[in-house]
Parts: sequence; structure tokens; C-alpha cells
Amino acid sequence: MNTVYLDNAATTRIAPEVLEAMLPFLKGEFGNPSSFHSFGSSQMEAIEKARGQVARLLGARSEEIYFTSGGTESDNQALRGAVKIDPDRKGIVTSAVEHPAVLETAKALEDEGCTLGVADVNNNGELDLDSLRELVNDKTAIVSIMAANNETGVIMPLKEAAEIAHKAGALFHTDAVQLVGKSPVDVHSLDIDLLSLSAHKLHGPKGVGVIYIKKGIELPPILTGGHQEKGVRSGTYNAPGIVGLGKAAELALTHLKDTVARERSLRESFEKRVLESCPGAFIVADDAANRLPGTVTVIFRGIESEAVLTLLDMQGIYASSGSACSTGSKNPSHVLYAMGVDYTQANSALRFSLSRYTTEEEIDRVVDLLSVVVERLRRISPYSE
Ligand code: PLP
Repeated sequence: MNTVYLDNAATTRIAPEVLEAMLPFLKGEFGNPSSFHSFGSSQMEAIEKARGQVARLLGARSEEIYFTSGGTESDNQALRGAVKIDPDRKGIVTSAVEHPAVLETAKALEDEGCTLGVADVNNNGELDLDSLRELVNDKTAIVSIMAANNETGVIMPLKEAAEIAHKAGALFHTDAVQLVGKSPVDVHSLDIDLLSLSAHKLHGPKGVGVIYIKKGIELPPILTGGHQEKGVRSGTYNAPGIVGLGKAAELALTHLKDTVARERSLRESFEKRVLESCPGAFIVADDAANRLPGTVTVIFRGIESEAVLTLLDMQGIYASSGSACSTGSKNPSHVLYAMGVDYTQANSALRFSLSRYTTEEEIDRVVDLLSVVVERLRRISPYSE
């Protein structure tokens, strides 16, 4: 059976070039990069090359890139590190639609004595800058606003949010896990202090990521130990993963323009045809000013998303209901809730996320099948109008 993978916001396939770059470090070149002997230490060259590749993708300097185990760790380090810098600044301000890697960490820090402010979003899932402004003050250590939302694809106003943080003397962090590789990012022109990214969202391997730390900021570590990464992140280097991330970053930059154009055109055609062929469907955040090129959440009124997902799955089509990348939780999405979507509609939400490998034929197949599945479920649904 031919499968169609439209769950790229959860994770992506490894690009063949990435796998090829990683293989030597999974086979013969297994030494520890921190070893004194040349068998291990020669790998530092490949690690430094990867650092440069990631830096170029972000418009950063190589020395501002620190390798971690992924987005979750980078988010943790940003928040947990920031509240340790100044004893008079223990405030965290974030938004209601963040990934749990930020929201749950912020709540855990609140339990440990920090203060927490959560800014609102509007019905389109866009950050309410006035709400953010009201929460940030001279006790705020860090403002953390995601670059793009993993469920709706809505892109946030980073420059404006960074300005609000900086006016109050706070650090500005962005979880850019969903945006990097899907839109140009320039950390210096956006005035970002800390940024998280994850390799497996951009056709790299799982379990490796980066925290960008602007030069001059001394962010306390959360992992102490062997002093790798200038003591900012201890732990034996994941050389295959880091090399894979570097290659994935290089490819993301090379393909950026094409990826954006291609995914946007496929997504727009998908949305138009789904709305035409599935009565009662609507696009979440349809009127947002700025969305990711290839991520869309559709609500199929009156139908349980899990029923649609199961029928699609049986035909080899893989999508997701809401925030699948934060476990198989059955709770309605906090993102949709924050946008004012009611419980029943939130249970009818399906996310489709494309990649640079998605083809027109795949989109055709999904649209055709969706209309059949939705029609069939609508006929048997007790909630259907
Ligand atoms: N932040 C966002 C916005 C995400 O979508 C994800 C996805 O899982 C993460 C953080 C976590 O990243 P990782 O899987 O690398 O820990």
C-alpha cells in the first residue's frame, strides 16, 4: 500500500543526504570527540562544521550555537537558566498556546517560586501584544514566545515581542522548532536572545537540537558534568546526531525558497478542495496574518477526529489530531481552547502537515479519500446537523 505521510509537524523523515553524512559516525568513527587521542578528537572538526551549518541557517555566529538533545531540552534550559541569572528577576511570561515543553516547564518553575504570566491569543491564534505588554515588568527574567504554533501553524510577531521583553530588561526566548526551515530566520535582526530548534522537524535525526544563546549572555546550565559545549551543556557529544543536524540545516537553507513556495501552494490547494468537498469543514486560524506554509488544522464539524484518523490510517494516510507531538493525550487541545474553539469542535480537529517531499498526487489522494470518509461518518454521526 502506498502511504501518505502528512504528520511532518510531529516529525519528519531523515533526508537521504543526512543519513549518508551520519553513517561514518555510526560505524567506524565511534571515538569520543572529547578524547585526547586523534581517533576521537578528529570528530570535533565535523561537529564544528555542523555548528557552522546551523549558525548559517539562523543568521547566528558559530559560537552562539550549543548542541542539546532536542527542542524540549533547549526550552527547559532557556527557562530554567534565565530565572537563575538575577535573584530579583524570577518572572516568566509566555503565551497560552506554547508547546508543553515551555508551558509545563514554566508551570513547574512557578511551583518552585517563580511567577508566571500567560499572554492571550485572539481567535486566529495570534499573540495579543497588549496582553503581553501588561504582564512584562522589571521582575521578568524571560519572555518566551513560540515562533510558529505546532497545531495551527500561526507565526508569531517575534520582533514586537522581543521589543516588549527588552524594554523591561528581560531576555527574549523563542521556541522556533516549527518555524526553522519553513521560513527565513535571522536571530540578530529579530533581536532574539535564546532560540530552540530540533533536528527531527527538519529531516534530521531525533534526539538532537540546538539552543542559540546570543553572545554575551551567560545562561546557567541545566546539565552539569563533563563541561562539553563550554560548560553550557555537559554530556558526551552525540556526533552522528550533530553531524546529521548540520547537514539537515544546510539542506533546509538550500531548499528554503522552494520549500516555502511548494508547501504553500500544496496547502492552499488542499484547503480549497477540502472546503469544497467536505461540507461543514472549516480552517482554523484561516484569517491569521501569517501562517506556516505547510501546516493546517481543519475542523470537520460534527465528526470525531479520531474516527477520521482511523479510517485514513487504514488507507495508509497519516495525519494527526491536534497536538500529537505532545503524547497521545486525549485532552482537548489547549491551543484551540485558548483560541475560543469549543470542546466539541476541538474534538473534530485534524492537523495535516506537509514537507518538502509531499507531492501533488499525495494531496489528491488525501482530498479524495477525506471527502468519502467525512461523508460516511457524517451519515452515522449522532452530532451531525
Ligand atoms: N516545541 C515545539 C513547538 C514542538 O512542536 C516540539 C515537538 O515535539 C517541541 C518543542 C519538542 O521538541 P523535541 O521533540 O525535539 O523535544
